[in-house]
Amino acid sequence: MPSLTRDEARQRAQLISVQRMEVDLDLDRGSEHFGSTARITFSCSAPGGSTFLDLHAVSCERIELNGIRIDPDTVTEGRLTLTDLAADNVVEVTATMAYSRDGQGLHRSTDPADGEDYVYGHLFLDAAPKVFACFDQPDLKAPYAVSVRAPQAWVVLGNGRATRTAPGRWELSETLPLATYFVTVCAGPYVSVHDEHDGIPLGIHARRSLQRELELHGPQMFEVTKQSFDHYHRTFDVRYPFGDYDQVFVPEFNAGAMENPGCVTFRDPMLFRGAATREQVLQRSNTIAHEMAHMWFGDLVTMRWWDDLWLNESFAEFMAYTATSRATEFTDSWVEFGISRKQWGYAAERAPSTHPVAGSPAPDAQSALANFDGISYAKGASVLRQLVAHIGEEAFNAGVTAYLRSHEHGNGELSEFLAAMEEVHGSSLADWSAAWLETAGVDAIALDRDGILTRTAPQEHPADRPHALDVAGFTGGAEVFRTSLTLDAPQVSVDGVQRDAAVLLPNAGDLTWAQVDLDAESLAALPRELAQVQDPVARSVMWGAVLTGVFRGTVDPAVALDVVTAAWPHERDDALMSRVALAVTDRIVPQFLPADRAADAKARLAEAALAAFDDAEPGSDRALVAARVLAATTTDEQRLEAWVSGRDLPQGLEHDSDFRWIVLQTMARLGLADERRIAAVEADDTTLSGRLSGLAARAARPGIQDKEWAWAQISGNRERSNYELNALASGFWSSGSVEDLRPYAARYVADIPRLTEWVGADALDRVATLAFPSRIVEPETVDLVRAAMDRPDVTSGVRRSMADELSKLEEALASRSRWS
Ligand SMILES: [Zn+2]
Repeated sequence: MPSLTRDEARQRAQLISVQRMEVDLDLDRGSEHFGSTARITFSCSAPGGSTFLDLHAVSCERIELNGIRIDPDTVTEGRLTLTDLAADNVVEVTATMAYSRDGQGLHRSTDPADGEDYVYGHLFLDAAPKVFACFDQPDLKAPYAVSVRAPQAWVVLGNGRATRTAPGRWELSETLPLATYFVTVCAGPYVSVHDEHDGIPLGIHARRSLQRELELHGPQMFEVTKQSFDHYHRTFDVRYPFGDYDQVFVPEFNAGAMENPGCVTFRDPMLFRGAATREQVLQRSNTIAHEMAHMWFGDLVTMRWWDDLWLNESFAEFMAYTATSRATEFTDSWVEFGISRKQWGYAAERAPSTHPVAGSPAPDAQSALANFDGISYAKGASVLRQLVAHIGEEAFNAGVTAYLRSHEHGNGELSEFLAAMEEVHGSSLADWSAAWLETAGVDAIALDRDGILTRTAPQEHPADRPHALDVAGFTGGAEVFRTSLTLDAPQVSVDGVQRDAAVLLPNAGDLTWAQVDLDAESLAALPRELAQVQDPVARSVMWGAVLTGVFRGTVDPAVALDVVTAAWPHERDDALMSRVALAVTDRIVPQFLPADRAADAKARLAEAALAAFDDAEPGSDRALVAARVLAATTTDEQRLEAWVSGRDLPQGLEHDSDFRWIVLQTMARLGLADERRIAAVEADDTTLSGRLSGLAARAARPGIQDKEWAWAQISGNRERSNYELNALASGFWSSGSVEDLRPYAARYVADIPRLTEWVGADALDRVATLAFPSRIVEPETVDLVRAAMDRPDVTSGVRRSMADELSKLEEALASRSRWS
């Protein structure tokens, strides 16, 4: 199917506007197909003209334009041409559609825990025509009146309030104007909890087998929802417009969540069934606040075309962290932003695929998918923090309110947003926008012992970015100075720098977007100094400097491991603990260290985890993170055997299935879990999570035959869902010798692009990332992947996944040749 181009969208929006969408779905036709009737009322500005409708159906039963039948066979490549339009038109299409297994369109899956089926609609980014006929582009918004027929035992939810009008018949109240990609219907025997706040009815929903988790976590999620509503109403000065606010936890969801107005969908592993650390609850709270911010940025005002994606994502990211840090118990949420989100964004900046925050070309809808990355989210949010520092918070909020009010229920773009900001600021933001929004790249900043602060833009992306930031110094944990300034030249001299401080730290408040180069003295001091620093934001910047230093090749991985083994066991923030450990186990050890040094490094991390575990208060977040890292890294067979059998388990993890799977996966990697063992653990956990973990464990076994089985499942079993493919791919590369795995680099480039025949782009991009031969750190892998990226059969999404993973592999190769 061709992807809609920007030019086609522009022409269509000039010609037509949609007044009303009526959609009737029949979800009671078995597990493969559903019925769909769409009745579209639209006007045409040039009567007699022609346009096309988007429709991806299994079969099309009836098409009628203004009462005249059209032959369904004229639908080609997902498009139906409509000719001889009147000023006012009605087109009606009745079709049979297919449920999906890849999380795009109307996804249907069976819960293994009880055999119940669940359906949810995820129409982002261009999957709406897989559910109903429509003009699928973000600036043809219309009110939706949706009705649904479903099995009688099912509950139906959607953007409008759902009312059961007869057994198995549901009507959803007509919505405000929505972009096509925001429409959703969730149906199945969902269970619910309800609340209300400030006149807004609230509901949270999940699969029936997750009722206990829903009831356990519901109160905390309602609390964050209410706090965020109050915060956004104060900040935006525009009321939430979409009626009831439902949050639905759905199975096998590709992203974290989706901001469907009034009916947000979330990946349901976020309804933690076992122990959850504060960081995990913080992340979920941020996701809740992020989707709520979209009700204004995205839903009320939608970007005109996908090239202004940042108007959705950068804002939602910025607003969410602002909301959680100010209005919820997670006052320190920017720490997690620094070590998790910004690290993701910096990696995206270092890749050749980096792009400006705003105005990245999206010549067609599918190419925009590539920009849902760390640039659009983490950099965009950081840049908005810089804008607040530049013009002041009061002006920023006033500009936001003006922008929302003047574009509500319509669309906006960069120039209109900047105009609103300039109006309140009183002067031009053109230079600021050019440097921060319209130029790619991240500066490196360094502070030397003479107090000279240096800013270096990447050669490929020259820029003149003004940074509002703090620099600070630390000795023995005490902050010995801190200076706030604007770095608006390649070099400035900073007042108040104490040259004998043990650690000099540029960007100590983590306010700006820049990679930090520590001076040699500071780096050498980190093993003894880092954990003593009281301010978690400053520690986050130090940890980040060490990690990005390794990735950029400026820090020897051996030095980074010295910092980790000395300071990590004493880290007090569980977000910093878990993120640093993940970077070491998932990237530094397997990629940056040659095989003969990797085992030793992993053993040192396991020792550090044991030290932290022994030191932590039993049952605390620190103990929990340390136990998980220990379970993932230890080679102590006795401990693994005891834990998997339910003996001597850490406090709080006594009946924790997810922890048990971490243990079993480690055993699988070490060759200590055969099929009988895995099946036995699976028999104790018949949930969807259990089934996925079982697949990951099977793929994690190191034997050649195990790997061959797993690869065949990934590359050839068309029945595998998106989540099953992810589980298999992540298990696959987690074990085995480089010698045994080397042939799969060639298999990757041969097999993975073909999955596009049966896996949607959204899901496939993730599979292409997880299945990438990241452990074969050899020049031959680079050659193989480069050759594949030129092939015409490789889709833009897969090419982008390949490019990003290749960039990481090349970082590892460069580091090895420098430091090994
Ligand atoms: Zn978002």
